[in-house]
Amino acid sequence: MTYDLIIIGGGINGAAIAREAALSGLKVLLAEKDDLASHTSSASTKLIHGGLRYLEYYEFRLVREALQERERLMRLAPHLIHPMQFVLPHINAPRPWLLVRLGLWIYDRLGGKSSLPRSRALRPTDTMLRMPLKGEPGGFAYSDGWVDDSRFVVLNAMDAARHGADIRTRCGVTAAKRVKGVWAVTLANGETVSARALVNAAGPWVADMAKQCGIDAKAGVRLVKGSHIIVEQLFAGEQAYMLQQPDGRIVFAIPYLEGLTLIGTTDVPVTSPDKAKISRKEIDYLCEAANRYFKRSIAPADVVATYSGIRPLYDDGASDAKAVTRDYVLELDTNGPPVLSVYGGKITTARHLATRAMAKLAPALGISTAPDNRIEPYSGGNLPLPFPEFLQRVREFWPFLGEQRSRRMASAYGTLLSNIMEGVTCESDMGFQFGGGLTQKEVDWLINREWARTPADILERRTKLGLMTGPETETALAHYMEGLLP
Ligand SMILES: Cc1cc2nc3c(=O)[nH]c(=O)nc-3n(C[C@H](O)[C@H](O)[C@H](O)COP(=O)(O)OP(=O)(O)OC[C@H]3O[C@@H](n4cnc5c(N)ncnc54)[C@H](O)[C@@H]3O)c2cc1C
Repeated sequence: MTYDLIIIGGGINGAAIAREAALSGLKVLLAEKDDLASHTSSASTKLIHGGLRYLEYYEFRLVREALQERERLMRLAPHLIHPMQFVLPHINAPRPWLLVRLGLWIYDRLGGKSSLPRSRALRPTDTMLRMPLKGEPGGFAYSDGWVDDSRFVVLNAMDAARHGADIRTRCGVTAAKRVKGVWAVTLANGETVSARALVNAAGPWVADMAKQCGIDAKAGVRLVKGSHIIVEQLFAGEQAYMLQQPDGRIVFAIPYLEGLTLIGTTDVPVTSPDKAKISRKEIDYLCEAANRYFKRSIAPADVVATYSGIRPLYDDGASDAKAVTRDYVLELDTNGPPVLSVYGGKITTARHLATRAMAKLAPALGISTAPDNRIEPYSGGNLPLPFPEFLQRVREFWPFLGEQRSRRMASAYGTLLSNIMEGVTCESDMGFQFGGGLTQKEVDWLINREWARTPADILERRTKLGLMTGPETETALAHYMEGLLP
């Protein structure tokens, strides 16, 4: 069989393109060398945002597009993407008050009509400022969205599979060449598959892949590492903080899972796309960034976990890593069967990127694109009620799930929760307990429906329970999965 499209890479960009192509009726194969979202797309700050600070670089089109996407995604995946309030303290701030106010005024309006509250100035007496922060800062509050990034990738892949796409994980592309009018693609298992068109969505490996496939690439990729630290809860409440730093950078402090705070990010140019790791210098920088603002001081010893990812940015020649465009670039090579390479992008704009990618490929594939993914909810996103009321229903229906687990599972699975919970009337129906509320029922679903193959796929990406459980959970899970998987 010849596929219409083979996609290299199961990060957010590859998965979103697979979804879009499958929804358009194409025969699609997505090949991912590791797990879905195992690289940059699980290492983001997890914001569905316009990117307030990109206004400083006059990236108005990017910000407008991202704000419009924010609104659309909150509608299409209301279980997974949640509104979040951001507090922007104004103390020792490098940007003048009026400039910040103006920026927020533009941010509120640039994307058109929004369901989120508009920004507002805060008095120093506001508890969100007074309680956790040093000094007596004034400040602002504005709104954006928050997403579990790796789950969002999985939802894209599930939607693509539901529309017939063949999703292969741990199945890298080792070679691709044009043979007799099609792409002949060799997979890591030795199989050769063919397609009328190819998408190179290999993220940090996009340039390596282009070279390997003999693609006529005009662009360069600039690899910029970004790291986060996780510490015990630094402040009360559900709001996040946007902290301006003296070097002009922005560091976010975000409530994370149960009882934790996520702090990031850094911008460090790197040369290799391989597994990124936080440095001691970055940990110090992020601790200092938080200590500049919060009353509760943190030190490297307080860091309970870290993660790092590499932004595969389009090389636009900017000298400063934080100023390199966050916009995406799609390069189409039609010297034979077409290949489209994806540079840059954001979790927020991946759906839009996918529609643009299909529009670029459509003439070569001889199809007309009339994408309807604008209104197609993501897997589990067809909630009959606003999320808080849906969650309430989940709690009433399966009271034994408890407060935390019902919130986690309602958000992760949305309406698909009823499929997972089919035939379950009490805790013992959930099967073996792995720890942290993870049960055999959920694990079976993740293996059978979400391509989970290792404990890390489950503990780090499909759920974030690895942060809440110990090595005994991992061992039990490894043992169980070994027994099930070939
Ligand atoms: C620190 C940081 C913070 C960020 N914060 C945000 C944010 O808050 N909001 C937002 O919208 N965006 C954010 N981003 C941007 C966003 O995370 C990235 O733009 C996005 O994840 C890139 O996705 P990708 O699919 O291009 O790359 P990846 O997720 O890296 O996916 C590429 C995939 O290709 C696979 N691959 C490579 N070679 C092969 C091969 N030969 N065969 C098969 N598979 C292959 C890799 O294994 C990988 O899984 C952030 C990025 C970083 C680094």
